[in-house]
Amino acid sequence: MIKPVPAGRPLALLVALLALVLSGCGGAAAPPAAQQPAASPSPAAAPAGSLLARPAYAAELAQPAEPTPTRRPLVGVRTAEPAATAAPEPPAAPDAPAAAPGKATTIPTPSPRAAGTPPRVGLQVGHWKSNELPEELARLRNNTGASYGGVSEAELNLDIASRIKPLLEAQGVVVDLIPATVPPSYDADVFVAIHADGSSRSSARGWKMATPWRASRAAQALMENVAAAYGPASGLPHDAGGVTVNMKGYYAFNYRRHVHAIARTTPGIIVELGFMTNAADRAVLFGQPDRVAGGIAQGILAYLGQRDPNDGAALLPPEYPSLRVGPGGATMRAEPRENAGVVARLRADSRVFAIDRVEGWYRVYARDVPNTPGWIREDQLVVAPPTAPGTPPAEPTSTNP
Ligand SMILES: [Zn+2]
Repeated sequence: MIKPVPAGRPLALLVALLALVLSGCGGAAAPPAAQQPAASPSPAAAPAGSLLARPAYAAELAQPAEPTPTRRPLVGVRTAEPAATAAPEPPAAPDAPAAAPGKATTIPTPSPRAAGTPPRVGLQVGHWKSNELPEELARLRNNTGASYGGVSEAELNLDIASRIKPLLEAQGVVVDLIPATVPPSYDADVFVAIHADGSSRSSARGWKMATPWRASRAAQALMENVAAAYGPASGLPHDAGGVTVNMKGYYAFNYRRHVHAIARTTPGIIVELGFMTNAADRAVLFGQPDRVAGGIAQGILAYLGQRDPNDGAALLPPEYPSLRVGPGGATMRAEPRENAGVVARLRADSRVFAIDRVEGWYRVYARDVPNTPGWIREDQLVVAPPTAPGTPPAEPTSTNP
């Protein structure tokens, strides 16, 4: 029914959008709730197939949702203007790091955007149609995510993403609803993977967000904006310590390994909206989904409104050399200082994947230490020779939390 729109920007879409804009943004924007006395935040206003309709939640969700705060004007709105006045320049070509002269580089640069091109946002519905994942991700086809009381995570994610979409479109943003299968090298201004958690501990609750291991400045800024909006909008607690390596190693971020992943220059984050297995979280996720969607939309719009579309360098994730542990072994520490706690001792020659660097230290992920990245002094590492064909890369196996 809903198919991912290819990364290209159909002219017809642009023309239609500009026509809307020129005819007055008010026509496209969602009217305030006050102008819609008949509209109710209750299940009646929910899209067909709303999770609210599930009998399992009828009692739990007997209390009607609060008036939809998402109808408030969104802050940080990137108001689409006629092309004649908006006319943003295409992103400046960034300095591609360390591409040897004359040598073919695999480092792409942000694709130029034609003047007046509206921002494009990909909302990925976590686990949606995961059975259709391509061969390269076949091992994730059975990964259907969390569930509670007969509602799958994909259903919840789809409900929320479907509510975010019109909020963004009302502000002139082109939105792709993307299933588990990401279009090849998906090129957009924002990519947000929508997920929800489940736990055997029903007390586990709260939201969290992560960027990829190697995050561009744009991805960081996107996460900060979405987090700043989502917390207050949802009213859910921040599960601050809960970010897992599985989030940072999300398969859709892994353009090094997968064709069906975001482009290197697409700022991407993964959001865990809250826990389906916690009653208080569920009351918001299922009972007040417009608060949830409104928070995400507001954060995305704030990011789009404050970014510099000409700052192509902001889109480039940092690159580090391929590294392995030197002949004397290495000590992985919790902080980049000599007296910090020891996370692990690594044997000589083991490969590590660098995710950050400060003076004299690399923060790395090591396969031998599955869940905890740590810091290693630079002089305990050597630059690894090119990997022999068939050797697994040091980068952690991509995951689908
Ligand atoms: Zn998930």
